[in-house]
Amino acid sequence: MPLRFAPFSQRSLVLTLIALLGCGFLATSLLSYFASRSSIRDNIVNTELPLTSDTVYSEIQKDLVRPILISSMMSRDTFMRDWVVGGERDPEQMTRYLKEVMSHYGAYTAFFVSNTTLTYYQAKGVLKKVAPDEPRDVWYFRVRDMQAPYEINVDVDMANHDSLTFFINYKVFDYQDRFIGAAGVGLTVDAVIKLIDTYQQRYQRSVYFVDKGGRVMLTGAEGGPQGARSGTSLHTLPGLEDLLHKMPNPSGGNYEYSANGHGHFLNVRFIPELNWYLFVDKREDSALGDIRQSLYLNLLICLLVTLVVLYLLNQVLQRYRERIEALATLDVLTGLPNRRGFDLLAAQALHEAERENQPLSALLLDLDHFKALNDGHGHLAGDAVLQGFARVLRYSLRQSDIICRWGGEEFIVLLKGTQASDAAQIAEKIRQQTEQSLFHYHGVALSVTTSIGQTGLQADDTLHNLISRADKALYRAKQSGRNRVCSEQPRSHYES
Ligand code: GH3
Ligand code: MG
Ligand code: MG
Repeated sequence: MPLRFAPFSQRSLVLTLIALLGCGFLATSLLSYFASRSSIRDNIVNTELPLTSDTVYSEIQKDLVRPILISSMMSRDTFMRDWVVGGERDPEQMTRYLKEVMSHYGAYTAFFVSNTTLTYYQAKGVLKKVAPDEPRDVWYFRVRDMQAPYEINVDVDMANHDSLTFFINYKVFDYQDRFIGAAGVGLTVDAVIKLIDTYQQRYQRSVYFVDKGGRVMLTGAEGGPQGARSGTSLHTLPGLEDLLHKMPNPSGGNYEYSANGHGHFLNVRFIPELNWYLFVDKREDSALGDIRQSLYLNLLICLLVTLVVLYLLNQVLQRYRERIEALATLDVLTGLPNRRGFDLLAAQALHEAERENQPLSALLLDLDHFKALNDGHGHLAGDAVLQGFARVLRYSLRQSDIICRWGGEEFIVLLKGTQASDAAQIAEKIRQQTEQSLFHYHGVALSVTTSIGQTGLQADDTLHNLISRADKALYRAKQSGRNRVCSEQPRSHYES
């Protein structure tokens, strides 16, 4: 029965191992993937992005806050206030002043708009008069009416071929705190965009500014989140729609969102000088791409290891199975096929003999007075004699003959392609050989004789018939004095 179970057990063992190895490898790979992912994520959210934000902020302070400070100084400048209060008599003086501010501080443009005369002064001279109904002058009237001391406005600059300019519009008051105009400097937006591009390239993440109303104000050359241009509202951008509501005002925080199937990490910081939020945004894939790749590599290695282990295991199991199968058909003491082995071999031999119409003879051998030998010398001595007798059989017979331990001290032999008369001679040779042999056990030489029943295969014989005839012959050999060969031929033979 164990033979029948062997293939099933092997398959289920292999399947169990696949499941165990697969689950184990998968679990460890995924665990380490998720652990590294969460540590990378923590690092990005808690360290990288805030650090970038700090750096960008300090760069902004350096690059953008400076113009704010200059504008602030202009708004408190006593010359400017005296000149306006004194009736704006010599425009040349104001122009020279603005030119001085521009060249000294390296600003792109410097301006003053008087609230009394609505004259727009800049470094090259008087530019124009501002008018409330002129769309381009809307900014001035907004600044005049606003509460805050200044604003930052991105607009076209008429004085400089309408190039997009980043204006700092500061309110100017006289000594009695009456509004007398707006002054400030401008930077070209190109310069600011270049600045943002530098940040983005340097830190591999996108940097943009959003005002308090949720409008994207400034981005790099390629646009802001999802390519959004200045003026786009966050409300219209997937993943960012609700962000401003979530943000504590006016401070910022860390956020995660997903847009177009990509996860994003976002650090938001409020920049009071600009009254804008600074957004530093990093796409998850760029950060986690490496560890995802190592996960795939890991899984591939695990798969290969599993396959190799399974292949080797299968080989070993196969070999063991063959070994066990072989052992199950062999007699442990003599190494000859046992009864099970005999059944398989004999069925095949009978089949071949019938098919090829070849003769086949059977010998049934039983050692004489073996019980007495056991009793006299011990069971182990009996074993040694059985082993020795098996050697005699092997030695006396051909490779192609089937020799088997039938049980106890009985053996059976099938002689392929051998007529009954030849078989009787072979049996006699075995008998003599046995008689003449000495079997040594612990220095004692033991001898034994054997009785042999011989018969030949007839047409329509079954294995059972063949063996029972040989058994009859053996019985006669025993009855007639032992240590002899008796033959038994089928009845039909005599009858014919
Ligand atoms: P006979 O000439 O009539 O065959 O007499 P016998 O004593 O050989 O016959 P019997 O069948 O009475 O005894 C067979 C003995 O063989 C009895 C049993 O203990 C012994 N025997 C059977 N198998 C083994 C074995 O594997 N090793 C040993 N040492 N003895 C065995
Ligand atoms: Mg016996
Ligand atoms: Mg016997």
